[in-house]
Amino acid sequence: MEAFFHPDQKRHHPHFFLRFGRVVACFETPARAEALVEGVREAGWRIREPPLPDPEVLAAVHDPAYLAFLRDSPGEWAGLPEAGAEVVPNIHPTPEMLAHGARKPEGVVGRAGWFLADTACAIGPATWASARASAGAALAAANAVAAGARVAYALCRPPGHHAYAGRAGGHCYLNNAALAAETLRRAGASRVAILDLDVHHGNGTQGIFWQRGDVLTVSLHGDPRHVYPWFVGHGDERGEGPGEGANLNLPLPRGAGDDAWLAALDEGVAAVRRFGADALVVALGFDALVGEPLGFLAVSVDGFARAAEAVSALGLPSVLVQEGGYAIGSLPELVARFLSAWRG
Ligand SMILES: [Zn+2]
Repeated sequence: MEAFFHPDQKRHHPHFFLRFGRVVACFETPARAEALVEGVREAGWRIREPPLPDPEVLAAVHDPAYLAFLRDSPGEWAGLPEAGAEVVPNIHPTPEMLAHGARKPEGVVGRAGWFLADTACAIGPATWASARASAGAALAAANAVAAGARVAYALCRPPGHHAYAGRAGGHCYLNNAALAAETLRRAGASRVAILDLDVHHGNGTQGIFWQRGDVLTVSLHGDPRHVYPWFVGHGDERGEGPGEGANLNLPLPRGAGDDAWLAALDEGVAAVRRFGADALVVALGFDALVGEPLGFLAVSVDGFARAAEAVSALGLPSVLVQEGGYAIGSLPELVARFLSAWRG
């Protein structure tokens, strides 16, 4: 079985993370990719280097002006007096401003506030190269499944599920899972489901498919009243227009372990079955692990292996897209156990 990873994905190296008002080292590091590569090898899956996608391919899901910002803003930023090494926003349009006609500004400081949701998605000189290569891994895995593979793993780093069509957020720049789903749709799958196991709500993915009835988005995650992304991810968000009923959120309380998490997963799997999906994308975060640095839930390594059995029992052609997971010492075992437990 095949996995996809491009060495450019290690170039992005964010300088900091703002945690409870303190500047600390960023959790989303190149070492994560190395740990995941180790686990994929342990599982015996072959790793292939994907082609780098053109911006037109990424525009299947993303706003071209946003893509240009990711590519060009570090150069503009460097021209600011005494600029830091990364593009970081310090203001965002508030709901009041948006209701009163807020529009995208011209200066790079203002555009940073427009295109970046928070301070956990700084853009450095190599961010575009890494995000593009990460998306390339998702696209190559989706193309492999569209061409007949039963399963493929995209070792996506940086991750993607907090990225909207036109906005980065929470370590995510390009929505790899959404790109995989859209690729499967365009290759002929009539209904695609995305099942997001990351501990954080897949808000970007939900946003991209909010008004679409052909892609079901399911996310099980920590209750957003108490954890990122804070504002969305509630159980009553169902989608809109043709997408009404094609979004399912399964929030879990702090500290929930294997039993509660796997019971929620069963609900998600049942929803995928009811939807009649003919292909599946798993947004595979490992940060629901007990003892995670950004921890909220308490799922065990065994729990993740059981999740692989439960989801693969759907028998659908599946693209596994890596999302979060920051316990670097545990990542090799987590991915090795998950891939080895996948049936089909
Ligand atoms: Zn996460």
